Amino acid sequence: MGRRSREGMIWPQVSLAQMAALLAPDYSVEIVDAIAERMSWPQFETLLRERRPRYYVTQVTAPTLQNDMYGTFLARSLGARTIAFGTHVTPLTRETMEPYPSLDFVLRGEPELTLVELVDTLEGRGPSPQMADLMHMADPTWRIAYRRAQSADHQSQMAQGSDERLAISDRLLAIKGLAWRNGNDIVINPDRPFIKNLDDLPLPLHDMLPLHRYRVPLIKGPYSFVVTSRGCPANCLFCIKHVSYGRTVRVRSPENVIAELRLLQDLGLRDVHMYADLFTVDRDHVMGICELMLQEQLDFRWTCNSRVDFVDEEMLCLMARAGCWMISWGIESANEGILRRVRKGYRPERAAQTLGWAKAAGIKNWGYFIIGLPGETDETARQTIELAKKLPLDLALFHIAAPYPGTPFYQQAVEKGWIRPGARWEDVDMDRSTVLDYPQMEAERIEYWARRAFREWAFRPGPMWTYLTSMASPATFRSALEIGLESLGWVR
Ligand code: SF4
Repeated sequence: MGRRSREGMIWPQVSLAQMAALLAPDYSVEIVDAIAERMSWPQFETLLRERRPRYYVTQVTAPTLQNDMYGTFLARSLGARTIAFGTHVTPLTRETMEPYPSLDFVLRGEPELTLVELVDTLEGRGPSPQMADLMHMADPTWRIAYRRAQSADHQSQMAQGSDERLAISDRLLAIKGLAWRNGNDIVINPDRPFIKNLDDLPLPLHDMLPLHRYRVPLIKGPYSFVVTSRGCPANCLFCIKHVSYGRTVRVRSPENVIAELRLLQDLGLRDVHMYADLFTVDRDHVMGICELMLQEQLDFRWTCNSRVDFVDEEMLCLMARAGCWMISWGIESANEGILRRVRKGYRPERAAQTLGWAKAAGIKNWGYFIIGLPGETDETARQTIELAKKLPLDLALFHIAAPYPGTPFYQQAVEKGWIRPGARWEDVDMDRSTVLDYPQMEAERIEYWARRAFREWAFRPGPMWTYLTSMASPATFRSALEIGLESLGWVR
């Protein structure tokens, strides 16, 4: 399942394409992006009935939890084993598995190798030699644990005769990163170490995704993500990267990224987003990618994200020459006290300088702001709106602060009693509503300021024109109109 944002954006499900690359060709795999395909539940159910998958893998997020779990319910009722991964089920494994018995397995943390090991185990297959090498490189203790599980399995088969369930349990117990059901118990195995070298992963099978269906502002053709790195060294309290990659930072080699771009070029793509927690995390890595793109005359229009203190002028000029035409900047707030409290770690005055460099290089600026971070008041929200209006921005989004489970922000919100009583996981949604209730600012006030911020920023001649000309389809235009009307208070 994919996800559509409030602005009508639909992002490519590249994590599924990556997993598919690890499973194929040993297994037959299909990716269904029901959101991108605008599939209704009855249509999805019909498809499941036709395909009858042995395994059903779904990504789970807090705002989509109930939908994601309904998918597992349908698949389970048709005989599939159901598997979930993502930033919601990693920190809240037991809390998700207990109320949703239709979910059989959770892949905690980095999911790829855990998935392959799980499916191999359930199918009674050993790993392929390449996969065994990959497992071993990621975790040198893997071979020992694998042999131990095999030997325990053998002994249990000898002792128990035909008790297949016990034998499988021994093998499942050895799979790091897995949570599973042993009868009525939920077993959470030890964490799986991160993959050390991302170049060891096969290139994602982009051709399995509905590339023509993805929607982002200002892009009208087929589109995909290239994951260039994982992790970020910064420590923003609210950031979901804490859940996925902890404190690690791993970058792919420029050559490996170029190989994926060539593959996408062969598929007829010209538009990609360099997808990373922080694309500019490593200057040499970024410069290397750009230089190779220029050398090989790869003709891509690409976008990326960054922080205002993780680029310099020379870097931005080279990125522009290599085809970068828009950068999303995590600016978050204009207030220095708030930036310090959430450990954002840059000084507000840096934003104007960096965005100025980008604009001069010919790159469009997309500013991301968050309303409702700890310490927010009417006055600080007003400062953020004024900053957004002053900066050379082509697009701006004002998210609502969201304490996602597993982040330090969530921990802090629970400890300080900032979570509204009766809030549900589905309400933790930075696009729509908040679960936060501060003593100095209530939930409704945070949502009001987020709507007002967008209205004040967007309903000016320049931004309005950009929005109207950027909508990739009538559906995204409708969504934008809805946000506009909503922010004016005409619809709720
Ligand atoms: S800079 Fe971005 S990716 Fe890095 S911790 Fe902060 S919000 Fe997360």
